[in-house]
Amino acid sequence: MPRMDMRRHPQGFAGLPWPRQPLRELGPEFYSELAPQGLPQPELRLYSEDAARLLGLALPAAPQQRADWAELFSGNRVDPGQLPLATVYAGHQFGNWAGQLGDGRAHLLGELAAPDAAQNGGHACWEVQLKGAGRTPYSRFGDGRAVLRSSLREFLASEAMWHLGVPTTRALCLVDSPLPVRRERLERAAVVTRLAPSFVRIGHFEHFSHSGQHAALRRLLDAWIARFEPDCTHAADPALALLQRVVQRSAELVAHWLAVGFVHGVLNTDNLSMLGWTLDYGPFGFLDAFDPDYTPNTSDTAGRYSWGRQPAAVHWGLYALAAALKPLIDGTQAIEDAVQAFPAAFDAAWRARLRAKLGLGAQSAAADALARDWLALLQRARADWTLSFRHLHDAADGTLPPQLAAQFDAEAGCAEALHAWLQRWRALSSAAARAAMPTVNPHRVLRHHLAQQAIDAAEHGDFGPAQALHEALREPYRESAAHAAFALPPPPDAPPACLSCSS
Ligand code: AMP
Ligand code: MG
Repeated sequence: MPRMDMRRHPQGFAGLPWPRQPLRELGPEFYSELAPQGLPQPELRLYSEDAARLLGLALPAAPQQRADWAELFSGNRVDPGQLPLATVYAGHQFGNWAGQLGDGRAHLLGELAAPDAAQNGGHACWEVQLKGAGRTPYSRFGDGRAVLRSSLREFLASEAMWHLGVPTTRALCLVDSPLPVRRERLERAAVVTRLAPSFVRIGHFEHFSHSGQHAALRRLLDAWIARFEPDCTHAADPALALLQRVVQRSAELVAHWLAVGFVHGVLNTDNLSMLGWTLDYGPFGFLDAFDPDYTPNTSDTAGRYSWGRQPAAVHWGLYALAAALKPLIDGTQAIEDAVQAFPAAFDAAWRARLRAKLGLGAQSAAADALARDWLALLQRARADWTLSFRHLHDAADGTLPPQLAAQFDAEAGCAEALHAWLQRWRALSSAAARAAMPTVNPHRVLRHHLAQQAIDAAEHGDFGPAQALHEALREPYRESAAHAAFALPPPPDAPPACLSCSS
């Protein structure tokens, strides 16, 4: 594909300009310029109205518009103004240094301005990235492709997490193709178009630090701070101030994951976003029956990235970031202190989320003890995480909602323990905090069996179930009869999530 000259073609897709490529501006060490490979017979299968609105894109209602989206978001057409590139990063995977990695199957098309940043969390610009549009210089042994199964999971999860209120990259659309892709079996290829203010990971900093490219590391740091943390420029040590911020927001992110029952599955440092957003949906899952050791990732036999070990995993990743920033920060103790702030930051964020979920107002030893006992009871009863919190709210008037009782009747003694716990809860919780419970305890999440049903249909060409699921997860805190089926736990005969990193 010939390289386009941005100055001669300032207008791109739907007349939108592609003004900047921030990493490109840092220098050639940061990326490889290359056109995506595209897909044969691409079809636009799903799109997110909410994400399109974020960019001010007209929805692809007419067949010609759908065809346009399919061409652009499969990588078949490169628009004027776009200068696609893949970026280089590195990372620690499962605790081991993996060396140089990079966007092995992601092409950054450029950055689009959000027409109404104020409405969209203040993010003025969004990077647009294709995932699965072919090989790059960083593909190693991979084929640069993504299969429909994993692309659909990423599309649904990104949008579902956003609507749950969890910071996350977004998904604009999913395009698929009959192109066969070999994984454990032959599967269909797909491309998901992702959006984020930045896809920069801890691994980007690690790459320039560990390879001794400290001038480039400094440029990356300065550009990051100028763009995303301008306040840090005024700090005595801007790099240290940045580290402190990443520690704080990562702590808040993990607390949020735990609260909604999310398990990322692969918290390697190349998957940890510098923005503190959820990034790279692979073998992720949501809790059904509560088990703190749960991970859907069957490659993670030691449970390193299980639900309850996510705080430790992210803390570990922040040490890796601190080590990467070390050449730019004076004073080893200050770095150590910055990362050591994580456990307390996480603990405060998690306890606050638990109190909100339980309708407990102010912090107190009694509230903490009650929350601890609730978690122990959920675990003992193997109660459904989402349903237990959601239906607790209805037990305030002294009754026992059947949907709540049902979570505790399988294990001996749990019904009695619930009864005793509820008495303490009714005495301690406050009406005001209880009133807010439905706003923090979702009615439905992207359970594995729901995603799998949507995948099974999509693999047979029927995207209706995926669309219905996407729609149902747009307002996850609002209970509606139409969406009742999406709130149910998996049927007893549903196979457990068995996901590997293959995607
Ligand atoms: P992940 O486990 O998906 O976070 O990927 C780890 C690294 O492998 C990243 O640098 C990916 O870009 C790369 N990668 C994963 N799958 C593929 C693939 N099918 N083709 C090329 N690179 C890949
Ligand atoms: Mg990754």
